[in-house]
Formats: sequence, C-alpha cells, structure tokens
Amino acid sequence: MTWTTAGQSPPLFLLGLLIGIWLPDIDLAIPYLPHRSGLTHSILPGLILLFIGQPRLAAGILAATAIHLSADMFPVSWRGSALIYLPLTGGLGLWSMAFLGLNVLAALLIAYHLMQRPALDSLPMVTTGLLALAYLLLKEWSLSGFVVFAACAWLVRRVA
Ligand SMILES: [Zn+2]
Repeated sequence: MTWTTAGQSPPLFLLGLLIGIWLPDIDLAIPYLPHRSGLTHSILPGLILLFIGQPRLAAGILAATAIHLSADMFPVSWRGSALIYLPLTGGLGLWSMAFLGLNVLAALLIAYHLMQRPALDSLPMVTTGLLALAYLLLKEWSLSGFVVFAACAWLVRRVA
C-alpha cells in the first residue's frame, strides 16, 4: 500500500470516513429537520469543513457521505411522497434520486481531488473501498447502492 500526499494526514482522513458514514443521519437529532434532509444528505457538510480549512477531514467525510447516500438511494421502505427534503422546496419526490446521485458523484469528485488523485492501492482508496463494501453490502444489504457507488467511483477516476 502506498502513502500518497493525502496520506500525510491519514488519521484525519480516517476520522472523516468514520464520522461521514453516519453524519447524514444527524438530521434525526436536529429539531425541525425532517429525516433525509438535503442539508445533511448532501456535500454541504463536507464543503463547510473544506471552507473552514480542514481538507483531509473533508475528504474523508465526502468519501463516506458518497457511500451513505448510495445506500439511501435504495431504501428498504420508501414512506411518504419524497425521500429528500429541502428547507424551502419541501419534498423532492422522484427528483430525490437525481439529487442523491449527483451528490454521490460530486462528493467522490471533490474527495478524489482533495486526496490528490491517489492510486488504487493507496490508503485512502483502499479504506474507502473497504468501507463501501462493509457498509453497502454487509450492513445495508444494498447491491444496488454498491453498484451506484462503484459506477460513480469508476467514472470519477476515469474523467478526473
Ligand atoms: Zn441517511
């Protein structure tokens, strides 16, 4: 395994992965935010960290957010009329899928650049891949989510 430039702060990246895999569901603990709020189920938390000068933490959070959102695209039970809720527009309905998919792609693209385009066998890539396998296939039993995540990751590596 190689240590890329991004690996200069592996603890921060790994901490970001650990936090980011659960962070979107923090909306459950925030009063007045509906579950699957677009504020937490998006790249917004990662961007806030980036803008306050925490790029390694942001990279980990964004990579893990992409994994979480990939699973949320295929919930076991879809209740109500919408999956994602935004503060001003309310439920996005079927647009929720596009919202989540675009955020998965954007999160991976930004994380990949923040990690300075690491090699496949680098610490950030291997740990992100293992987390995706564990979370999507073992915890969420979401083959569809794993396919979306893998396709987006492949696309990002190909075009970025
Ligand atoms: Zn969620």
